[in-house]
Amino acid sequence: MLVYIGIDDTDSPKGMCTTYVAARALRAAEGEGARAADHPWLVRLNPNCPYKTRGNAAVCLPLEVERSGFDRVWEAVLGVVRELAELENGADPGVAAFPEENRGHLERFYFRAVREMVEVEEALELAERYALAFWRHGEGRGIVGAVAAAGASVGTLTTYELLAYRRREMWGRERWVDPESVVRMDALFGDRTFDNFDYENGEVRLTPHTPCPVLLGIRGTSPEVLPEALSVLRLGEPYEFYQVFRTNQATDVHYQRLSVKDLRPLVSAIVTGRVVGRPRIGPGGHVFFELDDGTGSVTVAVYEPTGRIREIAFRLVEGDLVEVYGAVKAKPQGLTLNLEKLRVIELRQVYAARAPACPVCGKTMESAGRGQGYRCGRCGHRDPRAQKVLVAVDRGIRPGLYEVAVSARRHLVRPLRLEAALRASAGT
Ligand SMILES: [Zn+2]
Repeated sequence: MLVYIGIDDTDSPKGMCTTYVAARALRAAEGEGARAADHPWLVRLNPNCPYKTRGNAAVCLPLEVERSGFDRVWEAVLGVVRELAELENGADPGVAAFPEENRGHLERFYFRAVREMVEVEEALELAERYALAFWRHGEGRGIVGAVAAAGASVGTLTTYELLAYRRREMWGRERWVDPESVVRMDALFGDRTFDNFDYENGEVRLTPHTPCPVLLGIRGTSPEVLPEALSVLRLGEPYEFYQVFRTNQATDVHYQRLSVKDLRPLVSAIVTGRVVGRPRIGPGGHVFFELDDGTGSVTVAVYEPTGRIREIAFRLVEGDLVEVYGAVKAKPQGLTLNLEKLRVIELRQVYAARAPACPVCGKTMESAGRGQGYRCGRCGHRDPRAQKVLVAVDRGIRPGLYEVAVSARRHLVRPLRLEAALRASAGT
């Protein structure tokens, strides 16, 4: 039978990683006769969740298991979770196994866990009704991610990530990957891998900066090329093993299209509206502007680490039509949307009053004095009735979709580069 085992919240700020626990659990399950029915799923949940340890990721193991062998597989998985989870450092793991036929009952919960805030009680209720078995420790918040990951909608799992893990003696030490080899890999594989290198800041993006067992991760649009991409890299240490995950990263699945009046804290929204007033730049280089969609207005915040997208935001003027993507936060002054992507739909034509051109020689004329029209400095032509003319100003920005710097982009946000690649492969 097909069984989906969700695992979540095994890590703490001091270490561990749920992907590593799950990869080890998969090997333990295989030792008891289970067979992987798919790559394990690395499922990112609401990035605005205040309880998350780091990336708010849960894992699901899709397994083909003999009905009579399920108990042994379940015990093997639990054994690994109990052994590796950071129980002393505040991890509250949850594990839940669902049969294929019950997954449909979990899908709505999955989408809600990605897009808004969900309660432990809801997850428990689903586990009690539909799970073959479930287990939780401590406060058991991990059951939320375990149920959501097991219920993930396969249609949203369209990208992959290869994670290579360190040998135990290296945990907590500095990581090194030769930057030149990363740039070479990036060039070799085109859009089949992504987010490898931050060309804006000259930084390798593959390595985390936490004491966890992950050496590096390579993200891609197909699973086959990832081990090949790994082999191109020059590493400062041998890895223990690697695992390819199927994920909902870089899919934009967390966004909901909402009116300003329906915005709530901790959701990720797409809002279309017009700019009100002038964007302003605050201390630290953060840019803010107001957006109105006819149901209300919201402050859009474009923080300094988001990079060059701030220049686009700062050039907006009142009346411009834009679509903003981002996380909604409650601030003392009201709701704020932290910008993740910006689509400039329509730029208002802005005019400036300028001196007229000389009708004889074409040079811009000069004022002949208050109320006395203009004269030409080159050919001497005078026109006492000439007036200022309105000239369309080059706005310096164009309609289009803009994104934040790679280093500021969240796991679930689809990179523009990938957008173009997927459009091309879809032939549209
Ligand atoms: Zn002239």
